[in-house]
Amino acid sequence: MHELSLAMNIIEIAAEEQHKAGSGTILSVELEVGTLSGVVIDALEFALEVSVKGTVLEHARIELHPIEAEASCNQCSHVFRVGDLFTSCPRCQSYDTRLVRGHELRFRSLTME
Ligand SMILES: [Zn+2]
Repeated sequence: MHELSLAMNIIEIAAEEQHKAGSGTILSVELEVGTLSGVVIDALEFALEVSVKGTVLEHARIELHPIEAEASCNQCSHVFRVGDLFTSCPRCQSYDTRLVRGHELRFRSLTME
């Protein structure tokens, strides 16, 4: 399960942050999950639930925020929402586009006591 190893990574990063801070309890973490990141939010939520026991995130509130994917057209600069990687520009029908967001899996915030 892909999400389980992601959950481990998230816990590891949180543990590093706590280590850098010296001490303290992590109260909450917020994560951004792009809709084209390949991560299933429900699966990640479940994976975190089962893997945080005994870790720095055991008592933390974990929030996952989905980030709607958006692409920008290289031909007409139009920015639009995309459901998959092969969506053409709705304004000029060009496929010459690039993803501006939606691929990410990253921390938005980490709050410590
Ligand atoms: Zn266009």
